[in-house]
Amino acid sequence: MAAEPDRVREPVAARRPAPGMVNERLTLLEREGYRTTPQRRAILESMLAAGRENVTAEEICRRARAVCPTVNLATTYRTLDLFGRLGMVRRLTYGDGRSVFCPNVHPHYHGTCLRCGAVVDIPRRRVTKTIEQEQSKLTDGAFVVVGHRIEFYGYCAGCRTSGASPGK
Ligand SMILES: [Zn+2]
Ligand SMILES: [Zn+2]
Repeated sequence: MAAEPDRVREPVAARRPAPGMVNERLTLLEREGYRTTPQRRAILESMLAAGRENVTAEEICRRARAVCPTVNLATTYRTLDLFGRLGMVRRLTYGDGRSVFCPNVHPHYHGTCLRCGAVVDIPRRRVTKTIEQEQSKLTDGAFVVVGHRIEFYGYCAGCRTSGASPGK
């Protein structure tokens, strides 16, 4: 089935991130000389609350605004830029121009859902090791391989659950 990245997705169930995860990042923010404003906290919390799913700035903004009404999309982008400079978040841009934001600082891959376009963190297991062992063998006179970027496709938990009604 073709990906439908533009489709409006069902909101991820409201979860609260572990306080430690939030405070650890707020401490880093302050150590770098930035204040912990209610907007920054709300944006950080709504991003971390998405768990393994990497969400768009619009979704982060919508969720943050429910907690802190003064958050808008411009604030959200500015804050995500700041978090990015501090290494707290990574922006992932896809071929269709859509960007999602990943707050997971540990090494991992991303899987894109073929049905709803969700981008989900997935573990690396032995995949990286295998690829790193093999990639140098791809080097020839025309090209020297020094790294790789890999993207997985599949189905997210939400789409598998609602698999009985593909027209939904
Ligand atoms: Zn990620
Ligand atoms: Zn999905």
